[in-house]
Amino acid sequence: MSFLRGIAASNGIAIAKAYRLVEPDFSFDKKTVDSPETEVARFQDALSTAKGELEQIRDRAEKELGADKAAIFEAHLLVLSDPELISPIEDKIKSEKVNAELALKEIADMFVSMFESMDNEYMKERAADIRDVTKRVLAHLLGIQIPNPSMVQEEVIIVAEDLTPSDTAQLNRKYVLGFTTDIGGRTSHSAIMARSMEIPAVVGTKNATAEITNGDLVVIDGLNGEVHINPTPERLDEYKKQQEDFAKQKAEWAKLVHEKTITADQHHVELAANIGTPKDLKGVVENGGEAVGLYRTEFLYMDRDQLPTEEEQFTAYKAVLEGMEGKPVVVRTLDIGGDKELPYLNLPKEMNPFLGFRAIRLCLEEQDIFRTQLRALLRASVYGNLKVMFPMIATLAEFREAKAILEEEKQKLDSEGIEVAEKIELGIMVEIPSTAIIADQFAKEVDFFSIGTNDLIQYTMAADRMNQQVSYLYQPYNPSILRLVKMVIDAAHKEGKWAGMCGEMAGDEIAIPILLGLGLDEFSMSASSILKARSQIRGLTKADMEDLASRVLDMGTTEEVIEAVKSVTSL
Ligand code: PEP
Ligand code: MG
Repeated sequence: MSFLRGIAASNGIAIAKAYRLVEPDFSFDKKTVDSPETEVARFQDALSTAKGELEQIRDRAEKELGADKAAIFEAHLLVLSDPELISPIEDKIKSEKVNAELALKEIADMFVSMFESMDNEYMKERAADIRDVTKRVLAHLLGIQIPNPSMVQEEVIIVAEDLTPSDTAQLNRKYVLGFTTDIGGRTSHSAIMARSMEIPAVVGTKNATAEITNGDLVVIDGLNGEVHINPTPERLDEYKKQQEDFAKQKAEWAKLVHEKTITADQHHVELAANIGTPKDLKGVVENGGEAVGLYRTEFLYMDRDQLPTEEEQFTAYKAVLEGMEGKPVVVRTLDIGGDKELPYLNLPKEMNPFLGFRAIRLCLEEQDIFRTQLRALLRASVYGNLKVMFPMIATLAEFREAKAILEEEKQKLDSEGIEVAEKIELGIMVEIPSTAIIADQFAKEVDFFSIGTNDLIQYTMAADRMNQQVSYLYQPYNPSILRLVKMVIDAAHKEGKWAGMCGEMAGDEIAIPILLGLGLDEFSMSASSILKARSQIRGLTKADMEDLASRVLDMGTTEEVIEAVKSVTSL
């Protein structure tokens, strides 16, 4: 039995066999072969096994994910049947008497660099196809397995170095019971996705991939941030008991699903949900979400090889607005960059992607992308209560420009006779300190604020939210953060506007009492956190929390703040 400690990213306990999602080692040595004919036959064997495997994957993908997702495998099959690629490999084995691995790699690399150097999107995609399929053949030559999580057919715990948003999106929700990663923190996108999928996750364990082998029995304790590998039968029983207790606790919270979120002294706040796709709506409804406080639209743009069309976006936005039946839906415009990449945009690699060309900065520059999204949103606005929010606003000029573009698109739609909702609230994410500091100025022009603490903390403390080594600086309760939050809420209220929070801090049990005291109007969190938060808020009084908030603002450290919260609550 061994044990790893990490960051509790999504609560609950999951028990299943490990499935490693780790890039295998493809290294090999150059060899001279005695019988090139036997080597060619070995190559053909690997080729036909790879083809058979791809056919299976294609058929399953078509059944479970639809024809468009299966098309990529069809393209891969074509590559493997292309004599222009296969013959030179066989010729090389025969003429140079080298091993099949070497011949395959060298010929494939030659085609890849040739296609990649062409200034043509289609050819660049072919290069990616060749790289992908030749890896599959190479794996068979080397006798290693390539993981494919979307095709898992039994209950598993995913073990990975990190999970990109698109990896996470491909996980089969039916079979993936939980996951653990070497890197990442509570606000990394893998953690956020785990919460929206409502599966337990522990991230940042440093060596999950080194310690866990395929098939190990793994327990993910997402309540305490622990991972147990092959626990003893006694320990396993204890975990099963904890799993039951947690289920009972959830059943208690579930009784509040149709209740309002009101403090013991009758103050109402709104508990909203953060979502990534229309599929997440089910969780919002089941957990009694009063609104969608953050729809992260970037997932619409990910895990594909071109931009989504206006029509595709319109369909997604309409589905969310209709699904919420008139309750507010705050849609955030495209926030790409940082740990959210879009390979097909071919943006240059940056030294500091979190400080770089991303989110609204990119949208104001690449206006076609922005305008398409705005049109889709405006057209969808008639199907519910839409509010639009711009991410990563650093200056008033950025907000004004984004607003002007939205107005232009609205007018164009008007002149085309396309209906748009009369009133669409327009807000910004406050996640850059410059904006928090002059929130009083912004409050005169925006309809609302939503405080994005995931980034606000990283930029205020100068600590990369993905970097495990500086995670000690990731301090939501640091008085510096609390003062910025207060400035934003006060500025909004002074102008008669509302202030929400959609960073992970909004669902944090230590932060909630303080935020309530500071006067936050809307708390937006993972749907799976809503009922617990509602239960907590119903046990607090606003007046006591105001007193708590004013005291913690005058403290010097995170530790003092935590102590103060604990002393007046049951935490
Ligand atoms: C935030 O920064 O707090 C936020 C909600 O946005 P994201 O986590 O998507 O960067
Ligand atoms: Mg952010």
